Amino acid sequence: MTTTAAILRARGAPFSLETVTLADPGPGQLLVKLAACGICFTDVGVQRYEQGTPLPHVLGHEGAGTVMAVGAGVEHVAPGDRVVLSYASCGHCPNCASHHPQYCASFMALNYGGVLPDGAVPMHQGDAPVYGGFFGQSSFAGHAIAYARNTVKLADDVPFELAAPFGCGLQTGAGTAYNTLDVQSAHSFAVIGAGSVGLAAMLAAVDRDCHTIVAVDRVADRLDLARRMGATHAINSNGMAAADLALALRAIVPTGIDRIVDTTGVSAVVRGGLEGLAARGQMALLAVTAPGTEITINPNTLLGGRRLVGAVEGDADPQSFIPWLLGRHRAGRFNHAPLVQTYAFAQINEAVADMAAGRAVKPVLLMD
Ligand SMILES: [Zn+2]
Ligand SMILES: [Zn+2]
Repeated sequence: MTTTAAILRARGAPFSLETVTLADPGPGQLLVKLAACGICFTDVGVQRYEQGTPLPHVLGHEGAGTVMAVGAGVEHVAPGDRVVLSYASCGHCPNCASHHPQYCASFMALNYGGVLPDGAVPMHQGDAPVYGGFFGQSSFAGHAIAYARNTVKLADDVPFELAAPFGCGLQTGAGTAYNTLDVQSAHSFAVIGAGSVGLAAMLAAVDRDCHTIVAVDRVADRLDLARRMGATHAINSNGMAAADLALALRAIVPTGIDRIVDTTGVSAVVRGGLEGLAARGQMALLAVTAPGTEITINPNTLLGGRRLVGAVEGDADPQSFIPWLLGRHRAGRFNHAPLVQTYAFAQINEAVADMAAGRAVKPVLLMD
């Protein structure tokens, strides 16, 4: 079949909407008619920087839509089901077998490789290959081929544009707070970098009734949004050195913050957060940083029982975590709607520009 896809033809170039031919779903695969797809900084990172993904390529990894057809062996969803698509994993390596598919041994090949696991190119224009299968989907398109493992069934009452970002960004932020850091009401919490992923982490702290919730960002609008969504305190870190950030955090909680999520990966910011962390506190890093990035810390800060930990995809198994998080949303405990700004699919380049400039927190493309 043919569909319209947003193709990245050169590093740094805008996406161009073109017709591509998509193969039929093979064993373990399914065809999804997309209704919405969120844009994540990982898409923009691959658009701008060489990360081993072959070109031309169709990106997009927060797809949501309706199953059109299923290949052999796909049993948990059927044509007509509403679904949200998440990251791909192999299902049989040691981490997949122990329900940690986010640390799948084949994560890079399956999510960034550009070809299907058997080496086949997933899309074509005439005889010319178009690479895809990005995060097991390539959802900047009218239709995508996904896998049973990364396709999560969606209840009828969640709009596609609110469901789509659960596939990556919201799962990453919220999962880091719920799963990696296990935030509790007895904890003070801070998020450093209040974009969509950071604010999703903050929403988890709001859900868990953390008694103090601090948002740190350089953009005043983001801090206003964070306050509207439940932050009890805000720190504008514009121009702050590491020591200033630590002092600002300790001005709010003199003994230090119990749980911190950093979405920046910036050395001085991480150092400042770590120095503002309480004894036995934990700080999680989730930013994918540019090659060559280094972080300098004073190792003595770790001696107070402090932990610095990294996580991808919120330490979450999408098949169990996404339905659970959607349940929190439906119960009124995880209201991410203020993060979402919708765009027509044809406005994809405008949406990317708005996200990069901070005018949109979580752009979601609508395919219908
Ligand atoms: Zn695996
Ligand atoms: Zn993502």
